[in-house]
Parts: sequence; C-alpha cells; structure tokens
Amino acid sequence: MINDIQNLKKLQEIDVTIDEIVNESQTLTHEMHTRRKELEKVREQVQTLSRVIEEKESERRKKEQDLKYEEDIVKKWEARLKEIKKQREYQALMFEIAQAKKANAELEEEILKLMEEIEGLKKEHEEITRKLEGMEKEFSEKEKFITERLKHLEEQKAEKERERETLAQSINQQLLSRYNLIRTKRGGVAVVRAWAERCTGCNMNIPPQLYYEVMKNDRVHMCPHCQRILYYEEEQEASGQTNSR
Ligand SMILES: [Zn+2]
Repeated sequence: MINDIQNLKKLQEIDVTIDEIVNESQTLTHEMHTRRKELEKVREQVQTLSRVIEEKESERRKKEQDLKYEEDIVKKWEARLKEIKKQREYQALMFEIAQAKKANAELEEEILKLMEEIEGLKKEHEEITRKLEGMEKEFSEKEKFITERLKHLEEQKAEKERERETLAQSINQQLLSRYNLIRTKRGGVAVVRAWAERCTGCNMNIPPQLYYEVMKNDRVHMCPHCQRILYYEEEQEASGQTNSR
C-alpha cells in the first residue's frame, strides 16, 4: 500500500477517535446541564414551599391575635353583663356576646384548618428536602466523575490533534484537502475499504477495471458513486484492523 493511502487511513482513525471524544464530551456536558437544571427545579420547589409555609404561619399568627383580641372583648362584655340592670340592655349585650362567640368559633375553625394545612405542607417540605439532599449528593458525585472524565477527554483530544497535525504534514496537501472535503460531506468517513467489488462506504458496485486498479494499492482512487477514497485489504488484515479499533 502506498504511503498516501496508509497515511489517510491513519488520519481517518485519528479523526474518528477525535469525533468520538467530541461526541462523548458533548453528551456528558449535556447530561450535566440537564441534571443541574433538574436539581435547580427541585431547589426552587423547596424554596417556594418554604415561602408558602411562612405565609401560612403568619396568617395563622394574625388570626390567633385577632381571636385573642375578640375573646378579651367577650370577657369584658360578660363582666359588664353582671352590672346591667335593664332587661333590654341586658338582652342586647347577650345577643352581641352570642354573635361574637359564633364569629370566634368560626375563626377558631379557620385557625385549625390552617394548622392542618401547615402541617401537611411541612411534611411535604420535609419529603422534598430529603429528595433534594439525595439529588445533591448524587449530583456532586456525578459532577466529580464527569468533570474528571471531561478533563481526561480534553487531554486525549489534544494528544490526538497533535498526532493528526504531524501526520497531516506528511500527506500531499491536495489529497488532504480532498480528504477533508469528503469527510465533511460524507458523515466523517472519507477512506473506505473496497471489498468484493463493492465500496464499503456506499455499498455500490465498483467497475471491474477500477476494482482491479484499487487492488494494486499503488494510487489513490475514488469510488465513482460516493467519491470516497478507496483502499484494498485482504480479509485477514482487514479483520485484524477492525479488532484493533
Ligand atoms: Zn462509494
């Protein structure tokens, strides 16, 4: 096999590895982003719940103060009742007291309901806080793992890029730009094996004369259908190649 084809094959291996590194990095970065957003959502839920509880507590306190105030008034009225001599005045105040007591009972009922509601909210708050703690723990572990992995991938990528640069220098510039063009147009694969009179890139038949030329591996040939660069390799070699990937 001539150097150009061999070098292009090597170049493609490096490029595929770089593509894989980039893909994995993107997937991991995306995963981190998604997890962070989920965590943020639960954090907000906890905050909202805390705020609602605070509001309900303050509403409860206000109602309790009102009740205390109203109950004091009733006590004063009841004390005054003993001093009233006139029947009509007495009855009028009795009526007032009865009305006030009814209103107070309703207020008391409201307070009880509020307390029940607060209790439920607090339970919910507790559960969601526990869930959040679990998520935070899981996230920080995952974050640590992903950060390390990303760092490793970044190093690997830099290493592969250096390797690529060196190799690219030894390839004919025209061929190299052709390779780069095909790669961008054909889903990252520009160099493919010709096998059984077919191009393994597009799976189309290669004309016998061209296939014969490709088998020689002494010149760069392209698939007439997909324009990918073709090389020929015996099955033994080729399977060894696949295994090493
Ligand atoms: Zn093809």
